[in-house]
Amino acid sequence: MRWSHGYLLLCLLCASLLAKHLIPLLPYASFSWPPLHIYLALLSYIVSLAILGAFLPGKQQQGTLLADGTRLKYKCNGLVVTGVVITTLAISAYYGYIDATWVADNHAHLFIATNVFAFVLSAYLFVKGRLCTPPNWLKQRSMLHDFVMGCELNPFILGVDVKFFSYRPSMCGWLIVNLSFLVKQYDTLRFITGRMMLYQITTAWYIWDYFVHETKMVSTWDIIAEHFGLMLVWGDYVFIVFGFSVQNLFLLSDTRPLSYVSVALIVGSFCVGFAIFRGANSQKHQFKTNPKALIWGKTPITVGGRLLASGFWGMARHMNYSGDLLLALSFCLPCGSRSSVAYFYFIYLLLLTVHREKRDDERCSLKYKSIWDDYCRQVPYRMLPFIY
Ligand code: NDP
Repeated sequence: MRWSHGYLLLCLLCASLLAKHLIPLLPYASFSWPPLHIYLALLSYIVSLAILGAFLPGKQQQGTLLADGTRLKYKCNGLVVTGVVITTLAISAYYGYIDATWVADNHAHLFIATNVFAFVLSAYLFVKGRLCTPPNWLKQRSMLHDFVMGCELNPFILGVDVKFFSYRPSMCGWLIVNLSFLVKQYDTLRFITGRMMLYQITTAWYIWDYFVHETKMVSTWDIIAEHFGLMLVWGDYVFIVFGFSVQNLFLLSDTRPLSYVSVALIVGSFCVGFAIFRGANSQKHQFKTNPKALIWGKTPITVGGRLLASGFWGMARHMNYSGDLLLALSFCLPCGSRSSVAYFYFIYLLLLTVHREKRDDERCSLKYKSIWDDYCRQVPYRMLPFIY
């Protein structure tokens, strides 16, 4: 099964509809189409990000070698773009030009509008991709496959690399949703709960870290291997923004104090998760750009000179996924045990990473052949030493 995001999400949505912990999600129960201004706000946000991305300065990063022997160049200015957007919104809210709780208040409508946008964009990419695909290739692929999984690896619209760009509205959007709920909680309770504070700090750090290390994105699976269709479009525009932030709905009115043990658990899983996640991803990126650079102070051990078997990559073949899972857990734990739906992000990421690890294993096995087999013998664990 290759449509990982789509299928997993459908299963999880069905499961959550059956769950009895859905009270905070009640606004979603009464469906109504969003008014025009919601669509306009959404489009303005996306277009502003594209314009800022085009004009603001940023480090140029070369992408991996493509099938036609060329490499794309990526302008990595996501941090400055997000900084400008958040600062502008904050100043506008402070002076009363916009309402800081607008996103939280219109969450359900924004969710629907973003879904519409994702389907329209996917349809456009589908038509565009099919039109420029050689006819003999078209026969080998179904229309549904192309719509969901995408036709093109790196589609461009008006000079914008849409796949690389789409992480910006998603990660920046996640931050905006969080901040809007933060203000809403303060407006309602006149204070910020410890749970909300922990959720906000950990997720803001994760988003900030993503943009700081944006240059490393160019060697990730999504960029090098995944075509851009509904699966990624929906994942970026809808799922990250609304799925990853679902905890807000539970935290908004949850005033229960946190025990010291809970705080230690949340902070501990965040710190350990972050060290593994960032450490593993940085080691791989460093190895790809400078194979001789020291890993944990030692000369890196390699398999066939092409695969890293030192540091986190010598402990398990995808420690970066385990680190990310611990981080995801730390984002959900502030919600406590009241609702399983609040653990949606962690459960989703667990299924995604286990499934993706298998797909990556197949891809690497085809690409590296016997070198990959040697690596698997040398590093037998997939994601967690001695466990999996
Ligand atoms: P990886 O960054 O692990 O990339 C996998 C690729 O790395 C392989 O295809 C191979 O590509 C290369 N590689 C694998 N093993 C080695 C090795 N030992 N030495 C050198 N190169 C190796 O996977 P992803 O792109 O999936 O994930 C990147 C990060 O993004 C992860 O931390 C993940 O947790 C996170 N992520 C988060 C998601 C979320 O929703 N929060 C969703 C998906 C990912 P090559 O052909 O270049 O050698």
